[in-house]
Amino acid sequence: MRASRCPVCGGARVAPNRYPATPGLLRCPDCGLVFRERPVAPSAPPGPPAADPERLNAGRHDLFAVGLRLLAPHRRLGRLLDVGAGPGGFVKLAAEAGWRPIGIEPDAAVLRLAAELGVPGRVRAVAAALPCAAASLDAVTFWDTLDIVADPVGALREALSVLRPGGIVLARVRNGPVHLLMRRLPFVPTSASVVQTTLFSRRTLGRSLETAGFRAVRVRMSPLTARDPYRSETDPAFVLHMGRRAWSAAASAAAAASGQRLQIGPSLLAVARRPERDSESAR
Ligand SMILES: [Zn+2]
Repeated sequence: MRASRCPVCGGARVAPNRYPATPGLLRCPDCGLVFRERPVAPSAPPGPPAADPERLNAGRHDLFAVGLRLLAPHRRLGRLLDVGAGPGGFVKLAAEAGWRPIGIEPDAAVLRLAAELGVPGRVRAVAAALPCAAASLDAVTFWDTLDIVADPVGALREALSVLRPGGIVLARVRNGPVHLLMRRLPFVPTSASVVQTTLFSRRTLGRSLETAGFRAVRVRMSPLTARDPYRSETDPAFVLHMGRRAWSAAASAAAAASGQRLQIGPSLLAVARRPERDSESAR
């Protein structure tokens, strides 16, 4: 079924976006959002094949540690929810840092993997219906999952409702315009780019958070994973990863020089908070 309205601004003028290398994309001329005509399957998102779960968790350790540092000042109740927790690397690290985390995952097989790795607080659930009481959490995280779900603003609204006033949301997504550009460059293999359901830019990610009711929105370039969790150092494609690191360093410099306005890195990291008072969100 073709989406007739933009999932971020509600605009009705969405039209096919003609990218030869990536068919099936729509674009909203009102807010600039590019998104897939049909959402990707959460159980089999595009991108590299599933890595060994322990390797996947280990490769993302430093990235998750950055997330925990961003969340730490907002901890009061100590409760955190990770949406689409996968093999549970972030949930495990959050528990070690003193949080009481829950990780939700729609895929029973992935939940079993997390159980084998000793990850606490695993629940089978989807982003559209979080298994938490209203205003019961300090933090909700989306690690590379907000751009997979069919209704990202709906998922953010659901996150807002389970956060206490002043609670924080963190979302890491692929930097959509950069991945689309990569598909048009002849010297970059298609496997290097990933096109999820929603191709967020810095602007449309910020707008999604504000539309859902979040405030104090800040979108920055995300750190890379420390190692490529999908490829070993002996894999020829590992060279790609090294190129990616050089690119990321250049992108960090560009972001810093432009006051975070120029975001040319492969991923974005947003944080925002639920307003302390309802009147704040009605502005
Ligand atoms: Zn729009």
